[in-house]
Amino acid sequence: MVQAKSWILKKHFEGFPKDTDFELKLEQLSDPKDGGLFFTVIISAFHIRSLHTKWNLSCSSEIILEAVFLSVDPYMRPYSRVRMQAGDVMIGTQVAKVIQSNNPSFPVGCHVVGRCGWRTHTLSDGSDITKVLNDWPQDVSLSHALGAIGMPGLTALYGLEEVCAIKPGETLLVNAAAGAVGSVVGQIAKIKGCKVVGSAGSDEKVAYLKELGFDLAFNYKTVSSLEEALKNASPEGYDCYFENVGGPFSSVAIAQMKAFGRIAVCGGISLYNDTSPQTGPYPHLHMIFKQLKMEGFLVGRWEHKNKESLKRMLTWMQEGKLKCKEHVTVGFENMPAAFMGMLQGENVGKAIIKV
Ligand code: NDP
Repeated sequence: MVQAKSWILKKHFEGFPKDTDFELKLEQLSDPKDGGLFFTVIISAFHIRSLHTKWNLSCSSEIILEAVFLSVDPYMRPYSRVRMQAGDVMIGTQVAKVIQSNNPSFPVGCHVVGRCGWRTHTLSDGSDITKVLNDWPQDVSLSHALGAIGMPGLTALYGLEEVCAIKPGETLLVNAAAGAVGSVVGQIAKIKGCKVVGSAGSDEKVAYLKELGFDLAFNYKTVSSLEEALKNASPEGYDCYFENVGGPFSSVAIAQMKAFGRIAVCGGISLYNDTSPQTGPYPHLHMIFKQLKMEGFLVGRWEHKNKESLKRMLTWMQEGKLKCKEHVTVGFENMPAAFMGMLQGENVGKAIIKV
């Protein structure tokens, strides 16, 4: 029998999360069931002259996963309110190793990315897990499957390509630019031949953005005027704005867009811990007179493209065009601290927990 540790949402967050909102639980996992293979025949008649027969090979055999790396992400804060009850295991993704298996699709020793929540060990029926890319290089840490070569990287790519439809020569603004999504956004825009301006919350992060090849970067916490900083960085304005933060930053940035600019609304981290809604200034007049396009998106919309997209980004990483820092917290026990630290901006690059 395997003993699992998990972090429970003890009570719903009120404002910024606190240590007392979390509880560490121990649980004995039962042994994985060997469901065996069985065939199901689904016969469906669409109309009298056409009879379609589909054979499904299904397998309910179970496996046990052991977490190797876990992710803490901003979405956990707003999703905790809409997707979780008090007492649930915290939602989240991890890279895990299969340690027991009755399922030939996931043999012992293989690595998967799973939506298992904040758990050290998981009994899984194989749903909600995906094998790490087959040709994952030996010299690339598997933790990147939670970052640049994972959900945050895909978010950056789809926000730029599908939502902004960014073109070479255009100017892009991205905030929370030194984080998991933002740092990839800026680098992909550089690969595509754009001018990139990034904002971040410390001088260390600004130095990192310059290292990554951002054309201009500034610390939004220390500039005397955000409007002036944006104007100085790009006097002619911005074609594309990759929005990670929302709130007052957004109001100032939207006013700096060029005519027919595109805004990809990816996140609003400045709003996630609010207990009452923030109010204007409202963007409508800028949107109308500059004929701006603003579109919110969720990364899952383009899931059908993920495999090809991950391979593309892995190639960029191997070519040295995509660099990815990680902010690694060691120890499963430290997950709440790592989560709260990320929400406060402690992380440069992707926030990861190494078990
Ligand atoms: P990051 O790695 O960027 O970490 C969060 C960062 O947000 C912090 O490091 C901090 O950086 C910044 N931040 C925190 N609070 C504030 C604040 N009040 N004002 C401004 N900045 C703040 O996280 P991710 O890269 O994983 O996520 C970035 C954004 O993308 C989030 O809003 C997230 O919800 C969103 N997202 C959306 C997805 C989608 O499908 N739409 C998928 C994945 C992420 P700093 O020091 O610079 O302030």
